[in-house]
Amino acid sequence: MRRIETVAIIGGGPTGSSLAHYLAGEGLRVAVFEAGGRPPIIAGESLVPATIEFLRKLGVEDEVASYSTLKVGASFTMPGNAEQMHFRFDEVRAAKITYAYNVPRDRFDRTIADAARRAGARFFAARAQVERAGERVELSKETIDRSDGFLDRQPDLIVDASGRNRLLARLLDLPTQAGGRRDTALHAHMEGVALERQGHVHSSILDRGWSWRIPLPGRTSVGVVAPSEYLASLGDTLEQQFDTCMQRDRVAAGFAAEATRVTPVFKYSNYQLRSQLGVGPNWALVGDAFGFVDPVFSSGLCIGLDSAYELSRAVLAGTPRAFERYQSHVIRHLENWYRSVGNFYDGRLFTLFKVGERMRETFVGGLVEPHFLKHMPRVFTGEATSQRYSVGLLNFMCRYGLPPGYDPDELAVR
Ligand SMILES: Cc1cc2nc3c(=O)[nH]c(=O)nc-3n(C[C@H](O)[C@H](O)[C@H](O)COP(=O)(O)OP(=O)(O)OC[C@H]3O[C@@H](n4cnc5c(N)ncnc54)[C@H](O)[C@@H]3O)c2cc1C
Repeated sequence: MRRIETVAIIGGGPTGSSLAHYLAGEGLRVAVFEAGGRPPIIAGESLVPATIEFLRKLGVEDEVASYSTLKVGASFTMPGNAEQMHFRFDEVRAAKITYAYNVPRDRFDRTIADAARRAGARFFAARAQVERAGERVELSKETIDRSDGFLDRQPDLIVDASGRNRLLARLLDLPTQAGGRRDTALHAHMEGVALERQGHVHSSILDRGWSWRIPLPGRTSVGVVAPSEYLASLGDTLEQQFDTCMQRDRVAAGFAAEATRVTPVFKYSNYQLRSQLGVGPNWALVGDAFGFVDPVFSSGLCIGLDSAYELSRAVLAGTPRAFERYQSHVIRHLENWYRSVGNFYDGRLFTLFKVGERMRETFVGGLVEPHFLKHMPRVFTGEATSQRYSVGLLNFMCRYGLPPGYDPDELAVR
């Protein structure tokens, strides 16, 4: 591989922009193509504490803090409103970072893009097009022309940061792993939503699916994630489906009793898609374009910003080995989150929390309980998914640490 000097990044979302920041800051010639036209509100508004280190690397934490709400913990409501669990990040033993932010995404995305511009990256308002050339890819002539002479030939590297658009994965027909859920998310902002704990992101298991409540300045982001056919059965329009769910569901009707929806409803589907390849002869994938796991646990931006940083290291090293390491790192990171998410949907994760204190009663539980208390809540800070030990322990306990008499199915998401 020859030295990489010019990079084209397709997509100026948080992942593409942070990659642009790192590379332009090291003197590379970086062109970012951003199609624009995103809806006024974008899902992906709650960060996990592990994301904070990337805001610091980008030098934008103070700016993000100035328009965001401080997130100090996570609250969960079990099926039928039966029980609640609250976790504060500063109570997670040995946690490195004990807070995060809930961010209005339009401003957050702008902050990261502006920082990349200041670092020297050039942004072009254009929907980039790519063409296949064997195993390689090329920008279309029109796309190069849209760079106003900044690119006078094909770049050394083309990075797909187009999000769940997955431009290169679709063009190259890359092998993909799909998860088991076939859910749709409906998302809107509301005023007057009840929250049990200030500063916490709230997730509730609903009669069908689950919902998030993310406190933002002056309003609350509310999302419903449920089987697509169920949501479709609730009305003809997205607004009817969302509003009916808020009224009919036993848990949602409680927290939304006094609430008013103040935006249209937006729909997201096609979750849990992960590419099995993330790099090629002259291309790489980053962020959601590489893989997206699931909205639960707010992992997307953590994975995206982490992958942008790791890819920047590989580009600067410039060796095939460095790119392979990058690919393995992201695949492992996605897999770790995927397993944690699976433990949420099948009810094992919360069954484990519920029986936390009784764990000593089982032989296996007694052996690992001290470690468990330290590592388990790290799934909510994002630290568990980057540390092999925490991940392994969590999965082990979810499989083998449940005492007899507890049925995880009772806490499963339907
Ligand atoms: C329902 C839902 C809830 C979520 N909740 C959370 C959460 O609470 N916390 C969290 O951390 N994550 C969450 N996520 C995930 C999070 O939104 C994503 O992981 C994050 O946006 C990924 O950033 P990205 O830069 O990779 O992609 P994106 O943010 O999707 O950015 C991609 C950019 O590429 C541009 N683009 C696309 N195609 C082209 C093209 N051909 N040419 C030029 N530009 C192009 C788009 O306009 C866009 O600006 C959620 C996701 C969903 C679907």
